[in-house]
Amino acid sequence: MARPLVALLTGAGISTDSGIADYRGPNGLWRRDPEAEKLVTYAYYMGDPEIRRRSWLMRRENQALAAEPNAAHRAVAELERAGFPVRVITQNVDGLHQLAGVPARKVLELHGTARSVVCTRCRARGPMEHALARVEAGEGDPPCRKCGGILKPATVMFGERLDPVVLGDALAITKACQVFIAVGSSLQVQPAAGLAGVAADHGARLVVVNAEPTPYDGLAAEVVREPIGTALPRLLAGLREEYGD
Ligand code: ZN
Repeated sequence: MARPLVALLTGAGISTDSGIADYRGPNGLWRRDPEAEKLVTYAYYMGDPEIRRRSWLMRRENQALAAEPNAAHRAVAELERAGFPVRVITQNVDGLHQLAGVPARKVLELHGTARSVVCTRCRARGPMEHALARVEAGEGDPPCRKCGGILKPATVMFGERLDPVVLGDALAITKACQVFIAVGSSLQVQPAAGLAGVAADHGARLVVVNAEPTPYDGLAAEVVREPIGTALPRLLAGLREEYGD
């Protein structure tokens, strides 16, 4: 049997076992703390050097770059290594899919990445760890080394638009895939959530793996409520068996 194109839409829930909290979901930390939300809201960030200083300090302190992929990330990477056409569309900014071994070109980061920084003026990019080292060395709000512009994490802040190219690619993959697995996403944040509906409309087998009910459960061929760290490896192993791996 020809192997199906498997698209995975992943949200905060897949990284919980790696010690990364849900920051930006509907019930995420940032939504519950207006002061913290300012640190990741574009207009506040750009308009207030004090907000930027606090934002860099928060990044230095929360050690997100030290997180390691967990069993669910590894299972996705193994499926890809087994020769299945796999694409990951993620709402996460932690880079853990790539760290687990999924080639970067097969991962679409809807909300960007917290592993890089970008200049808001000249768009130059660099590693987050270099920017954090400058913060560590005493620069409260490190400017772009090329042009002196304001640096920000290469994440999509509140008030910023998603990259239309990334979004277009995600939509194309969603329409083309035969299996669409939504993992650890509440499927409440658009436009990512709507992809689950698009996949089902285009005939993909929709599988939802999430602890809580989602608005798309009714469209799903299968809904899995068990913990992601065990449920996803089992689900993907089942897929490999089904297609004769
Ligand atoms: Zn610059």
